[in-house]
Amino acid sequence: MKRLMNIIMLSCRKATELIEKQLYFGLSPLEKAKLRMHMLMCDYCTRYKKQSLFLHELLSGHDHDHSTLDISGVEENAPLKDKIIKQIDKF
Ligand SMILES: [Zn+2]
Repeated sequence: MKRLMNIIMLSCRKATELIEKQLYFGLSPLEKAKLRMHMLMCDYCTRYKKQSLFLHELLSGHDHDHSTLDISGVEENAPLKDKIIKQIDKF
């Protein structure tokens, strides 16, 4: 059982890697399942994913109209991302 948990459970570092990978390349069904399991239990990675999604959408969208790109939100959120990454490093 313990070994099974090790296979299923991701470290926060691995989970954030998968979050980034999911945004750009997509994940295998197994990776998706692992990530979902981790997110159920981990606040930091849930927040990290929200931040990543927000930044990803901000960077990938509105290409045609830069006047609507509001970067004030990014600057506001950057310290939070740093904080999350620092928390993740503690694990
Ligand atoms: Zn985590």
